[in-house]
Amino acid sequence: MERTHLLLIGVDGLRLDVLDLADLPALRRMLDGACTSMTMPAPTISGPCWSTLLTGASVEQHGVVDNRFIGSRLALHPDLLTLAFLADPTRTTFAAAAWPPLVDPAGVGPVIRTRDDQRRLEQHRVVVRDGETYGYRVADGEVAVFATAGVLAAGPDVAFVHFSSVDEAGHLFGARSAEYAAAARRVDGHLAGLLAAVEARAGAGEHWLVAVTTDHGHLDGGGHGGAEPEVAASFVARMGFGVEPAGWPEEMPPTELTPRLLAAL
Ligand SMILES: [Zn+2]
Repeated sequence: MERTHLLLIGVDGLRLDVLDLADLPALRRMLDGACTSMTMPAPTISGPCWSTLLTGASVEQHGVVDNRFIGSRLALHPDLLTLAFLADPTRTTFAAAAWPPLVDPAGVGPVIRTRDDQRRLEQHRVVVRDGETYGYRVADGEVAVFATAGVLAAGPDVAFVHFSSVDEAGHLFGARSAEYAAAARRVDGHLAGLLAAVEARAGAGEHWLVAVTTDHGHLDGGGHGGAEPEVAASFVARMGFGVEPAGWPEEMPPTELTPRLLAAL
């Protein structure tokens, strides 16, 4: 049987009602495929939320309560890419992000394990950009270029690509601002490029599931962390190329994302 490839795209701090403010054709295309709602438990901040989404462990289990990762038990809770590799050691994996705690072994975390042995064998590839230091808008653009090229050239079995600049705009200007809408438009362009790369691979006969998700929203005036509905709302929109993206519940807890994605492989 032809194996299913997975591309999970994380758009940090994305509120879906940004679609009222901006035309986002790639995101709309994904939402038209299939969509499941999720509600993130507090604290609705990136460290705990991505740790849950990418491992399937609850905050109580993985112990990541903020973005410092002090007391993290991620060593006990492998990430989606590592789990896919452990289930089938022939799988190739790819991770790209501009928020270092997700992928950078030099700092806290990372949520996605570095897996040096597989990295040396080019079975696992990690692209790290430091948006925190150099600016997320530019860093997200670099992540998009590397990730699109990586998907197109290598067709990894499981890939995770993360964008941070929408979240940054939410912090600086709030979720109903023109700046937030502009950041969403730019990231939608990155999404479109990734979808085109997957389509090219699918055109050559590969089967792909593409999913896009977020870790939390923002308040209208900016900021997050609490249990307000617009802050706690998340989703996973899916599109399949030779794969059926439907059949998931309308709503599920965020701990179910990783197990469901693994089951789809
Ligand atoms: Zn976040």
